[in-house]
Amino acid sequence: MDARERLRAYLEQRREMGESEFVLDALSVDDVLRVLGDKHPAPSARAGSDARPTPSVRDTAPPTSGNWREALSSIGAEAPAPKGTPRPSAPAVKTAPDDAPGVASTDASAPLPGTGLIVGSAMGDLPPGPLAHLATLDDVAAHIASCHGCTLYQTAKNHVPGEGNPTAGFVCVGEAPGQTEDELGRPFVGRAGELLTKILEAIAFKREDVFICNVLKHRPPGNRNPAPDEIKACSPYLMRQLELLRPRVILALGTFAAQTLLQTTTPIGKLRGQVHRFHGIPLIVTYHPAALLRNPAWKRPTWEDVQLARRIFDSAAQS
Ligand code: SF4
Repeated sequence: MDARERLRAYLEQRREMGESEFVLDALSVDDVLRVLGDKHPAPSARAGSDARPTPSVRDTAPPTSGNWREALSSIGAEAPAPKGTPRPSAPAVKTAPDDAPGVASTDASAPLPGTGLIVGSAMGDLPPGPLAHLATLDDVAAHIASCHGCTLYQTAKNHVPGEGNPTAGFVCVGEAPGQTEDELGRPFVGRAGELLTKILEAIAFKREDVFICNVLKHRPPGNRNPAPDEIKACSPYLMRQLELLRPRVILALGTFAAQTLLQTTTPIGKLRGQVHRFHGIPLIVTYHPAALLRNPAWKRPTWEDVQLARRIFDSAAQS
């Protein structure tokens, strides 16, 4: 696969994840794909999305060079600096610890980003939901074990309610159990889980220090995306878990966790880098570890996100 093919595959993957902006310059994903010769054009419905038209780029013929940096330069776009070259507009960085996921960290003294979306009262507690009678996390888990709220229990081997330190104050919320999680009844124990453990260790958390759970408590067959009715049926469990945990910080891993908690359809790329509020609880959005395994280029932004989450956690502990 030559450089243009790799870039095309990367951009198509980003678009599948719901992103429309090419963060390395001012072009949208669709614009760059069009220049490169899009093999799988986006449906016309996407024309109504938030992709920004760039007529001069749309009209440009695909460059013949096999070098994607040259391809971008030929259409007047800034290609990203070669690996290891500091970007002039980037915040000051320091070298990441050896066990970090191969990226550099943000400057701890940098100002915190502004407030993003607010769900519920910015100050308030979580309102009592339909499962308020479940007094403990174990009660919630027991309820999940016998739940028939959607059809997923029929195909799953085990329920996966979540696990970790109930007084940790730091909660990671993912999408749904995968195959290994389904077999073991534990969240994030496959390859993505191993990466999450490394990410947590890189911000000085042991896995058992935090609480880890998913939006869905049973595995969708074949790891397909959660359906809206499944998310709706299962969300009360997550809400009750968050009520009982009352964390200082929520780290939403991936599109479905972020969009479910923040009640939005905004792509994950636009939700990152802000401190959202979920019923008063700071909520940071980052990529799902499984997405990082497919796309190592997201390790750096993920590292920046989890560093931010750790800073918020630390500052909340001092206040
Ligand atoms: S996924 Fe959630 S709503 Fe569906 S059966 Fe399992 S616990 Fe119940």
